[in-house]
Amino acid sequence: MPEGKILKALSGFYYVISGSEIVQCRGRGVFRKNKITPLVGDEVVFQAENEFEGYILEVKERKNELVRPPIANVDQALLVFSAVEPSFSTALLNRFLVLVEYNNIQPLIVITKMDLTNDKEKLQINKYADEYRTIGYEVLLTSSETEAGLEELYPHLDGRISVFAGQSGVGKSSLLNALKPDLDLKTDIISSHLGRGKHTTRHVELIKVANGLVADTPGFSSLEFTEIEQEDLNYCFPEFELASENCKFRGCLHLAEPKCAVKSEVENGTIPEYRYSDYKDFIQEIRDRKPRY
Ligand code: GDP
Ligand code: ZN
Repeated sequence: MPEGKILKALSGFYYVISGSEIVQCRGRGVFRKNKITPLVGDEVVFQAENEFEGYILEVKERKNELVRPPIANVDQALLVFSAVEPSFSTALLNRFLVLVEYNNIQPLIVITKMDLTNDKEKLQINKYADEYRTIGYEVLLTSSETEAGLEELYPHLDGRISVFAGQSGVGKSSLLNALKPDLDLKTDIISSHLGRGKHTTRHVELIKVANGLVADTPGFSSLEFTEIEQEDLNYCFPEFELASENCKFRGCLHLAEPKCAVKSEVENGTIPEYRYSDYKDFIQEIRDRKPRY
């Protein structure tokens, strides 16, 4: 039986890419019984009726599942932040990083609009970039205007499903366009949803970019920590997780506990102060959260 990946789901049809062909599939009743709704990004087994139509027989096990937009098997989130206009915010980046880490998705920090920066701003952005690289994150400095840095971005897309994330106006649509998406594989009218803030119709489509697939709707549009517990935060700050092996207490939250290795690293400057102060704000935010029942 042929296998493929769902690029788009609309009105009961699933558009499955298999090799270089797109097959329009319907789901067999089996999904309704098992309450599985096939999602964009799903790996499926299908039965071909003819060259262009078929039936999905099986949905393979998912690696993860985003709710907004509904998409399965996301490998990577491109966290798009502009260097200026709007100005770079470490607080917002730290928040996105927590959400992405919590979902076990690999983050790639992409800083756009480098062409608009002056020397002082360039220095500041490079300093932040180095600090995030020290934590272990990949950071690319780009411009969709001059195409600087885009060559470095392509290999990160290869063989993966990526979603863009970032506040409105940072340059997500411009970046996608500059990456020269293969719009021949787009199954409907050519229009990028990226950049439009709120979507009334929640439908998402994967677009082929170089050798990878990219969602045309931004992810992580809700920036609230609805499911994350305060104990989880340590694991969403990789440098804290590493340092916490040397905290005196297991399960140390790095707040008032004595002999806390994270606090020592903040004091000696190994961990940037803005990472720690955001961590404390996030803990507070989780503690202030209203119970969900
Ligand atoms: P989105 O809301 O994140 O999709 O942002 P857009 O792609 O719509 O970009 C917002 C504005 O920033 C537009 O006016 C773009 O032309 C501009 N822009 C985006 N990327 C760049 C860039 O790298 N350099 C410059 N100079 N302008 C950019
Ligand atoms: Zn600690």
